[in-house]
Amino acid sequence: MSLAEFALIDRIRTRTRTRADVVLGIGDDAALLQPRAGEQLVVTADTLNSGVHFPAETAPYDIGWKTLAVNLSDLASMGAQPAWCTLALSLPDADPDWIDAFADGFFALADQHDIVLIGGDTTRGPLSLSVTAMGQVPTGTALRRDAAQVGDDIWISGTLGDAAGGLRAWQDGTLDVRQPCADLHREVLRQRLARPTPRVALGRALVGLAHAAVDVSDGLLADLGHVCARSGVGAQLDAAALPLSDALRHVVADDDARQCALRGGDDYELCFTAAPAQRDALAALAVRLHLPLTRIGTIIAGQGVACAGDDPGTGGYQHFR
Ligand code: ADP
Ligand code: MG
Repeated sequence: MSLAEFALIDRIRTRTRTRADVVLGIGDDAALLQPRAGEQLVVTADTLNSGVHFPAETAPYDIGWKTLAVNLSDLASMGAQPAWCTLALSLPDADPDWIDAFADGFFALADQHDIVLIGGDTTRGPLSLSVTAMGQVPTGTALRRDAAQVGDDIWISGTLGDAAGGLRAWQDGTLDVRQPCADLHREVLRQRLARPTPRVALGRALVGLAHAAVDVSDGLLADLGHVCARSGVGAQLDAAALPLSDALRHVVADDDARQCALRGGDDYELCFTAAPAQRDALAALAVRLHLPLTRIGTIIAGQGVACAGDDPGTGGYQHFR
């Protein structure tokens, strides 16, 4: 069975929650929102294309989750509180089971973060999912890429390279991305690739503590490189300090694991810079959030990212080289 466009939209609409600041949600030509006084609107958009941003056989639940997760991660890196989003779907066909599973993943994450779907667009075409996410920050407090200062510590949340490790395992045929893997280490990597956790609470808590922040979507060297370029500074990293998970160490050989951590994308951890005076506050924050925060380097005068224990470079995934 295939659904007509409006039946399809209705299937999604019935899943959305409401918020007091949504004056008018799905159903009109546009939505009406009531942002909070004294706050700035934070807006981001990200598209996932089948076969480019996820393996074509990825489960629809995971596609729904990841479509929103990558956008929440961008809000997190700005220090924003998520509020609203739109969803543009390009679907090869309107399979109700696929739509329902997609919505299960999408709304599981949306409800966790109290972000509501307020509109979108539905078309027929190659599988592609595009979200525009909106959040709010008190005026002037957003975490930006251009605010790193010489002498800052460079920090990373969680562990790095897991998603790239999962992708490698999939590419060499030792991991099926669609279903739980009996090998627990591979399963950890699969989860990190398929259902990344956007660090929303961390991003909000970093407002007032951190100077600059970026989420690691294209790889640490590439994304930290953006911070350096925008801030007019350089970075000195210590490859030995990179936090690697047990799972990654077990599945991927040592040198490769470090390459995954430096150049692999899709981890959606936050990389941020902060004055050394904030070390105790950040250690306390890590405990409160049950999320490791690791110091991996220093912001220096100059330009570019250098990494002791690795060739300097600015790798990372680029769509158009
Ligand atoms: P229009 O033709 O005026 O652009 P549509 O017929 O495309 O409107 O959409 C009708 C309503 O359904 C609009 O409110 C739109 O925002 C919403 N909508 C369409 N597709 C989606 C979707 N994939 N997710 C959420 N809302 C959607
Ligand atoms: Mg219209």
